[in-house]
Amino acid sequence: MAPKSNADSQFVWMDGKFVPYDNATTHVLSHSLHYGGAVFEGLRAYATPQGTALFRPKEHFDRFLDSVRVMGYSIPYSTQDLIQISHELIAKNGFKACYVRPIAYINDSIRGLKLPKTPEVHTAIAVWPWGKYMGDEGHLKGVRVKTSTFRRADVSSSLPLAKISGAYVTSVLARREATLEGFDEAILLDPHGFVAEGSGENVFTVKNNEIITPSVGYLLPGITRDCVIQIAKELGFSLSQENITRNQLYVADEVFFTGTAVEVTPIREIDHHQIGTGSPGPVTQKIKETFFKCTLGQVEQFKSWIDFP
Ligand code: PMP
Repeated sequence: MAPKSNADSQFVWMDGKFVPYDNATTHVLSHSLHYGGAVFEGLRAYATPQGTALFRPKEHFDRFLDSVRVMGYSIPYSTQDLIQISHELIAKNGFKACYVRPIAYINDSIRGLKLPKTPEVHTAIAVWPWGKYMGDEGHLKGVRVKTSTFRRADVSSSLPLAKISGAYVTSVLARREATLEGFDEAILLDPHGFVAEGSGENVFTVKNNEIITPSVGYLLPGITRDCVIQIAKELGFSLSQENITRNQLYVADEVFFTGTAVEVTPIREIDHHQIGTGSPGPVTQKIKETFFKCTLGQVEQFKSWIDFP
């Protein structure tokens, strides 16, 4: 019996060709599957009144190429090439809005851990429609979160500035632990016990109208995080990047997640502690509303964030 396809798009781009979804496969002996050395990105395309636009694609593909470099790989595509391919792929699939997933990986050409100086690396981009990552209700009313028993690894051996598939095992297990216990998401602490980030999101707190987000070190400095930092400044909020304790989360007036998948999502409860009033607060709402306007190119100062074909 033919395997049931999980297709939610028609075409995937692989090494220069648009291939039908069901043919976008690699070998079971893929080195990256065994050892976790694929690198990936995640960005969104939004349906703006002027047509479909990629959101901050330059920053995403620059980060993708940084991740490629961190692994010692090289691929024959520039940021501009990858942006153009993404636009073409979205159009070919007929999507107005979607998630975009670039990935670079090693196939079955290599056995064992040892990589040659210039391994053969494959590049693919897939797209699919992706609604609200934590559901419409979570997006509107806020999500329930647990502090994970998993922590972000020490910076001496982790590579938090790169999106490397193997590094996501901790995130997958943290999210699994949280959801099996009835929460929507996990927050991971760093090795010193300070708040690092969500499994695939950055965290912001608001106390007395001041916004604080953990400083860089044990977290992926997200592109959405950067949007929120810039938006907060533009709106006149005071914002700092510093260590945040678990205790500070519990007494915050507002806490929210940011990320490409989660966009801006309020947090209403952490470890069974209600955050603020238990409903999304005014600062979160204002930032969220402004962020979504930016994704549609409706905020003059940040129009350069969206990119048309
Ligand atoms: N932290 C982690 C671990 C992530 O995987 C992501 C998603 N890329 C983020 C933070 C948020 O980053 P961005 O806003 O660039 O999507």
